[in-house]
Amino acid sequence: MAVPKRRMSRSNTRSRRAQWKAAAPTLAACSNRACRAPKPPHVACPTCGTYDGRQVVRPA
Ligand SMILES: [Zn+2]
Repeated sequence: MAVPKRRMSRSNTRSRRAQWKAAAPTLAACSNRACRAPKPPHVACPTCGTYDGRQVVRPA
């Protein structure tokens, strides 16, 4: 396994960590015509409980 030859400076470490930002989650509109709520893609809708036009879970 590759191992760093020299210790990284505190400044370099902090500069790298400063680039770590939270990204906004991707949201797609629910394909259920009656719902249209924003939801993560490839996930059953938490509002109406449908996926691919089928009722798969009970809505919350
Ligand atoms: Zn929905």
